[in-house]
Amino acid sequence: MAELEGLEFGKSDFVLLDEVTMEQFMENLKLRFEKGRIYTFIGEVVVSVNPYREMDIYGKEVVEAYRGRELYENPPHLFSVADAAYKTMKRRAKDTCIVISGESGAGKTEASKYIMQYIAAITNPSQRAEVESVKNVLLKSNCVLEAFGNAKTNRNNNSSRFGKYMDINFNFNGDPTGGHINNYLLEKSRVVQQQGGERNFHSFYQLLRGGSEEMLQSLFLQRDPSFYIYTREGTSSEDRSAHKAVLTALKVIGFRAQEIDSIYMILGAILHLGNLEFATDGESVRVTAPQAVENIAILTSTTAADVSKALLFRTVATGGGEVIDKGHSEQEANYGRDAFSKALYERLFSWIVSRINAVIEVKDYNPVLHGKNTVIGVLDIYGFEIFDNNSFEQFCINYCNEKLHQLFIELILRQEQEEYDREGIPWQHIDYCNNQIIVDLVEQPHRGIISILDEACLGVGKVTDVMCLESMDSKLGQHPHYTSRKLSPTDKSLEFQRHFRIRHYAGDVTYSVEGFLEKNKDPLFQDFKRLMFNSTNPVLSEMWPEGRLDITEVTKRPLTAATLFKNSIVALVDKLACKDPYYVRCIKPNEVKSPMLFDDARCRHQVAYLGLLENVRVRRAGFAYRQPYNRFLQRYKMTCEYTWPNHLMESDREAVEAIVKQHDFHDDVEYGHTKLFVRTPRSLFTLEQERAALI
Ligand code: ADP
Ligand code: MG
Repeated sequence: MAELEGLEFGKSDFVLLDEVTMEQFMENLKLRFEKGRIYTFIGEVVVSVNPYREMDIYGKEVVEAYRGRELYENPPHLFSVADAAYKTMKRRAKDTCIVISGESGAGKTEASKYIMQYIAAITNPSQRAEVESVKNVLLKSNCVLEAFGNAKTNRNNNSSRFGKYMDINFNFNGDPTGGHINNYLLEKSRVVQQQGGERNFHSFYQLLRGGSEEMLQSLFLQRDPSFYIYTREGTSSEDRSAHKAVLTALKVIGFRAQEIDSIYMILGAILHLGNLEFATDGESVRVTAPQAVENIAILTSTTAADVSKALLFRTVATGGGEVIDKGHSEQEANYGRDAFSKALYERLFSWIVSRINAVIEVKDYNPVLHGKNTVIGVLDIYGFEIFDNNSFEQFCINYCNEKLHQLFIELILRQEQEEYDREGIPWQHIDYCNNQIIVDLVEQPHRGIISILDEACLGVGKVTDVMCLESMDSKLGQHPHYTSRKLSPTDKSLEFQRHFRIRHYAGDVTYSVEGFLEKNKDPLFQDFKRLMFNSTNPVLSEMWPEGRLDITEVTKRPLTAATLFKNSIVALVDKLACKDPYYVRCIKPNEVKSPMLFDDARCRHQVAYLGLLENVRVRRAGFAYRQPYNRFLQRYKMTCEYTWPNHLMESDREAVEAIVKQHDFHDDVEYGHTKLFVRTPRSLFTLEQERAALI
């Protein structure tokens, strides 16, 4: 219940709705958006609607207004959450995290940047140089990660194509001492192919548009992106200036000259790779543009002969321990080239993240000397995706959201319980939707979808996507959250034989199984790995450690994409689970990036799959409202004869009891050690009304 806003802006906390219905929720959300109030609480959670315009609400004065204040003392804001996470970390020496979720274009990344800026602004008041330098690197890392990990999509001109979790470490003073970044599931298919109207990663255009003449010459590149197959889709005027900013950021972070050169040589090599074509002469396949092969060899510090061999042949070990070179078909060569380009870019991206981590890693921290080192984690990760055509990527992303939702419910409940314990009031059971069954459907060993996929990928001979689907049908046919066409022939939403459907907590999603096996296996010929490992450029060689293996040693199958992803999400959840969580739930108001339009149907859909109504219910199931006695008293003392203008009782708590008794909602509250807990919002409305009539 924010105190600085009048009711004409709607309810600043959804728990104060008269009734928890979708209608009331939407009405309040829309009213606030139209009045320019883009943030609203659900208890400690902040719901944010992308304003699609500059808002004058992030300046210095606003930072000062939120700094060190309690959550309810100001209107809802990202800064409320940032400050709450920071305060808890500092006062209770607890690790905290801020989880930002929502669909593409909802404003997650902007929110994460404002939160980091807020934390940077309120820390290190004495301007110690080493702390300033850590802050600088943390902030600058955004610029680099966005250049290499973001792209223009139809939904968002600057869309993050990877998930990001960043830990910021603090010393006992509450000043940042370092950090660590984890990246998740970079959308590498974008390197070789983009949908109509979308672009490749910004980095390519920035290099081509903004690189100096000498740089482009040394990389054998033309300035015009449309010359390259991988970057045929348009450029923007910002690419040129962005290149300079990225170069500066790389230097500030501490990338060495040779490393920066290597980054651009890899980008160049990828662009040349994209333009390679193959032709078949009789039995054998050849590259049609030998010059490009020369260029790639120079840029990757290998030889043209080796590059050409890796593109056209694969080394296979025969049963008898013999090693032979088997020529690719034209199709295999095309496939291999694109797989190589994607892998080069993915490794480059992960390597950049690891180099940033090496710089910001907390060094020489001695807990005895320096006190406990605490952490605030910030998670900016793709939200639930339901497209017209959903594939392997959506399957992974939606699985990740099931895991995060599960954690959300678990942690919110735990947080409630801990507060009740602290305040010494009895715990009451809260009913909620448990999505464990859906998580199991995906990840359970031997029986879950990922296991079935992995098994199919191991299969000898030609296992097709459809065969894999059949295997899923037979194993999961009885599962209440799984259906496929075969099992439900009359179901119109499962039009084709190649589709299966999962009933997610956020709604039904129909996936096309097409390409699942290929994407899960994500094969890259070992020859490319060896080629890169043998590069005389140490930076490149370092990115490909497994290229060290000889062909006869490569027996173990690498983990599949789904399993790698699952492992990384399980690790992420473990990391988050031991922290005190804070949440920002982002909503995209319309599809056209308009600051005016509130598209009811779109918003309703997001409110549903973000589970916001359920969130309000969980919050209200226990106590909708809680406030320290002294603050409650401050606000409502004029409504009671015993407390106005001042009370003569032993304690604030007794004074609050007097107010509660006079207004006859004694049965609706519990008295904690320091706070009053109110079960239903109705009690508060009466108080609010009376207060409004008096002032
Ligand atoms: P997401 O990370 O959820 O995909 P972004 O954070 O990249 O979305 O936001 C998409 C775009 O929306 C931004 O580029 C910006 O133009 C606009 N936007 C998002 N949040 C804000 C905000 N708080 N104020 C102004 N514009 C915003
Ligand atoms: Mg983003």
